[in-house]
Amino acid sequence: MTADEQMSPQDVRRDAVGVDVAGVVVGGGAPIVVQSMTNTDTADIDATVTQVAALARAGSELVRITVDRDEAAKAVPHIRDRLRTRGEKVPLVGDFHYNGHTLLADHPACAEALDKYRINPGNVGFKKKKDGQFSAIVEKALEYNKPVRIGVNWGSLDQELLTHLMNENANSANPKTARAVTHEAIVQSALLSAARAEELGLAADRVILSAKVSAVQDLIAVYRMLAARSKNALHLGLTEAGMGSKGIVASTAAMGVLLQEGIGDTIRVSLTPEPGGDRTVEVQVAQEILQTMGLRSFVPIVAACPGCGRTTSTVFQELARDVQTMVRERMPDWKARYPGVETLNLAVMGCIVNGPGESKHADIGISLPGTGEQPAAPVFIDGKKAMTLRGATIADDFKKVLEEYIEQRFGS
Ligand code: SF4
Repeated sequence: MTADEQMSPQDVRRDAVGVDVAGVVVGGGAPIVVQSMTNTDTADIDATVTQVAALARAGSELVRITVDRDEAAKAVPHIRDRLRTRGEKVPLVGDFHYNGHTLLADHPACAEALDKYRINPGNVGFKKKKDGQFSAIVEKALEYNKPVRIGVNWGSLDQELLTHLMNENANSANPKTARAVTHEAIVQSALLSAARAEELGLAADRVILSAKVSAVQDLIAVYRMLAARSKNALHLGLTEAGMGSKGIVASTAAMGVLLQEGIGDTIRVSLTPEPGGDRTVEVQVAQEILQTMGLRSFVPIVAACPGCGRTTSTVFQELARDVQTMVRERMPDWKARYPGVETLNLAVMGCIVNGPGESKHADIGISLPGTGEQPAAPVFIDGKKAMTLRGATIADDFKKVLEEYIEQRFGS
C-alpha cells in the first residue's frame, strides 16, 4: 500500500454505539470529542465556574468536575445555573468515587444538573455493598435520564476481580504473565460493569467505557482488547501522564497509536499543571493531537521551521510566536464570523532555503530574510507570491495581510 492509498484514521474509526451527552455525541461516527477536568474545589462555586468557562472557551466540549462531598454536590446546580446565565452550555460530568450513590440520592438537584455521571467500578464499595452501590448510581442515571461513563483505573482496580483472575491463572496449565492478567482484569472490570448496567436498564447508547493506565504500552494493549470486545463508545486517556513535555509526549504516543487504529471516541489529556499553571493547556494539547493527525480541525495550523544557523536574529522566532498567539487569541472571534477558518494553513519560515517552497504549500505564508539575505520577506498567498514586506513593521504588516485574507476567503 502506498502512502496515498493508506486509509485515514477517519476511514477506520471503530463502529461504536453513539452516546448523546446533552447534545454532544460521543461515538456513533461523530467527531472525536475533546474533554477536560477541573482542579478547583467544586464547593468553591466562583472558582469552578471560572475554570469550567475557561476550559470550554479553550475548546473543551465536556467538562468533568469532582463531586466528593455534600458541599460539592450542593454547589453543582449553582455552578450549572451560573454557567448557563453566562451563555456557557458545555455539558458537566460529575466524577464520583466511594459515595456517589449517597450524594446522588441526597442531592436531587445535583443529580438533575449534571449531564453525565462517572462511576469507577473499583471504588463504588466493597464485597456485598459493591453491587448495591453500583446499582444505586445506575438507577439514578435511569431516573434522571443521564448517560454514565464506567471508568476503570488501574490505580483503583477491583481487587476482588484481580485476585480471582490471578488465582485462576496460577492454577491454569499455561499461566500468563502477571501483567497480562492485570490487563485482562482491567478490561473485564469495564465489560462486567457495562453488562451489569445493561441488566439494570442502561443500554450501550447510555454507557461510555474507559480503562486508564499510566504506561504507554499498557494503555495500547488494554484499549485494543477493550475495542475488540465491546461496542461501547470509548473515552481515551493516559492517566497520571505527568507534567510538561513528558505528559504531552506520553499522552500523544499512546493515543496516537490507538486513534490511528480507529480506537477512541472522546479524549482527555491528563496533564499535571505547574503550580498556578493554566489548566486549559490540556485542552490545547488534545486539540493539537487530533488536528495534527488530520482527525479534526480546531484552529489554523501554523507551520514554522525550527530555525538554524541561517536565522541568527530573533526576528523569526518572534514572528512565529506572535502569529501562533494571534491565531489562538483571535480564534473565538474568527470562529463566529468565518466558518471554516479552522482549516487554514499558515507558514512562517526562516530563510530562502525552504521558506518560499513551504510557504507556497500553505494558504498563506511568509519567508523571512535569513542571515546575509536581502532584508525582504516575500508573502505567498494560495501558492503565489503576492507581495514583499520590508522594514521594521514586517510582523504587524503580515498580521494585517492575514486578517484581510481571512475576511476575503471566509467572510460572508
Ligand atoms: S528554512 Fe532556513 S532558517 Fe529555517 S531551518 Fe531551513 S535553512 Fe534554517
